[in-house]
Amino acid sequence: MSSSITQFEQLALSAPLLQRLQDLGYEAPTPIQAATIPYLLDGHDLLGQAQTGTGKTAAFALPILHKLDLTERRPQALVLTPTRELAIQVAEAFQGYAHHLPGFHVLPIYGGQSMSNQLRQLRRGVHVVVGTPGRIMDHLRRESLPLEGLRTLVLDEADEMLRMGFIEDVEWILEQTPPERQTALFSATMPEPIRRVAHHHLRDPQEVRIETRTATVTSIRQRYWQVSGLHKLDALTRILEVEEVDAALVFVRTKTAATELAERLEARGYASAALQGDMSQALRERTVEQLKNNSLDIVVATDVAARGLDVPRISHVINYDIPYDTEAYIHRIGRTGRAGRPGNAILFVAPREMRMLRAIERATRQPIEPMPLPTWKVIAAHRLTQFRQQIVDVLTSEDLDFFYGVVAQIEKEQEIGPHDIAAALSFLAQRDRPLRIEESSDPAEAANNRFRSMSEAPSRSERSERSEKFDKPRRRSKESEDLDLVRYRIEVGHRHGATPRDIVGAIANEAGIESRYIGRIEIHDDYSTVDLPNGMPAEIFRHLKKVRVRQYMLQISRYDSSDSERAHPAFGATAAKSRPVRGEQRGKSAEHKFGKRHSDHHQNS
Ligand code: AMP
Repeated sequence: MSSSITQFEQLALSAPLLQRLQDLGYEAPTPIQAATIPYLLDGHDLLGQAQTGTGKTAAFALPILHKLDLTERRPQALVLTPTRELAIQVAEAFQGYAHHLPGFHVLPIYGGQSMSNQLRQLRRGVHVVVGTPGRIMDHLRRESLPLEGLRTLVLDEADEMLRMGFIEDVEWILEQTPPERQTALFSATMPEPIRRVAHHHLRDPQEVRIETRTATVTSIRQRYWQVSGLHKLDALTRILEVEEVDAALVFVRTKTAATELAERLEARGYASAALQGDMSQALRERTVEQLKNNSLDIVVATDVAARGLDVPRISHVINYDIPYDTEAYIHRIGRTGRAGRPGNAILFVAPREMRMLRAIERATRQPIEPMPLPTWKVIAAHRLTQFRQQIVDVLTSEDLDFFYGVVAQIEKEQEIGPHDIAAALSFLAQRDRPLRIEESSDPAEAANNRFRSMSEAPSRSERSERSEKFDKPRRRSKESEDLDLVRYRIEVGHRHGATPRDIVGAIANEAGIESRYIGRIEIHDDYSTVDLPNGMPAEIFRHLKKVRVRQYMLQISRYDSSDSERAHPAFGATAAKSRPVRGEQRGKSAEHKFGKRHSDHHQNS
């Protein structure tokens, strides 16, 4: 039944949900969603074999939200997850999809969080509870979690719960729920104990699993980069610099992401455009034509819009966002290596998506090689080679008579030798793509080293822990959490060797802001963002523009969110913007936060 569903509109979901999916730029239901949602809407029990990254959260969240009675403020759905991280993530996804359902309340419940807060929220009334088994049991024993109104129960990542020894707890919880409830069990694998739970507690379940057809793709070199230490956009631009790219097709998950990423690549000087389902047929055709005739080098596409694309010059397919299933992957990479040419496929994989990577390897019957990211050293060497070649090319192909005259005049009038002139011109020519890179702290180098040192493949949790430590942004202190913060952009990044410490130091000293008022800092390759209290006096703003970190001027400006990294798609652009945080402290004056500048304007370097 699922194969006929290709659009969300074919699923009988309520208008506020369809509107939200439209806002988020979701193009089509993923295979697991197309297969699952109709069953869940019909009230069936369900046994779904699906892993993270397939879109399974929406597969159960959307039918639950569709069926909610918002006037009834008691739990109507309970989702059990193995970890607190997943509980939070699932609760956030519910909140995101329920954007147009005013008054909707979801509560994540997990151990380690204050009990009194959970009790208060439960008393106030919530529609959906997402929690880990232990803490849910605590609440059931205390009778603080009423389940009489429960209509749907979801067991998410059941095999993980089994692995972590929760399965008896899960069964106990199942026994406390009304027998007429609907149950959906999702698991990446179906070991015997999980089948047994399904057999005991599910009523005549519909089984859904996404078939993985195998295919061989021998003419394509497949590599992956495990996302860590660097933003995906920075990783992409580094790869584009050193790979022999003729044309690249970059795949993302949503229509909005396609548009945004294409714009940002364009801003970085690439001839790029989006190809996605909201564009008119004529515009899509024109984009493909431009890719064919070399007026575009990069197209950022969604799966549906790129279906059947046949452009022989595509040398690289970049899976910027991992696909939902192996089928989609095989289709994507089939856009390169055409007409007898060699092709390259590069996949960005977040630590928690490693299972999908393994599934893809099985489906393509080929290992996918890990790929180190080009370090600044490599990039600088590459640029230097290109620069030399350009000089040789210009000398052989261009008429330079006028320019010999210019140089001769400079030599004569300024009394400068040709060597000095050439060096100065080299400097001017490389300003946008510097040939010299600061030595210190290249996150790619660090990530590659860690990568190499992983002798045996570490477990999934180890991997995500490693990357979490590495990626962790500067935490807001308790105080800055209560402030009204505004995001700024500064023109120093990894490339300049900037670290959060340098940035905090420079801003704290030069703007006289105490470091506890400095919020989140995100360092990108070429720039960084920093959250500062609202109401910065103009004088300090002007001064900060000229402050230097590692010899480079901050050139601070208000951050334009169109330049942002994309946040969790369920939250669209809003999460990426700097939000006024809880409990804005309007009482505190701006001067309070922006104290007097230190008189000794020493510069941080
Ligand atoms: P999950 O497998 O539930 O962890 O979802 C993986 C990611 O896919 C999440 O970031 C979702 O926001 C996103 N997602 C889920 N369904 C769709 C869809 N139909 N189109 C685009 N993105 C989706």
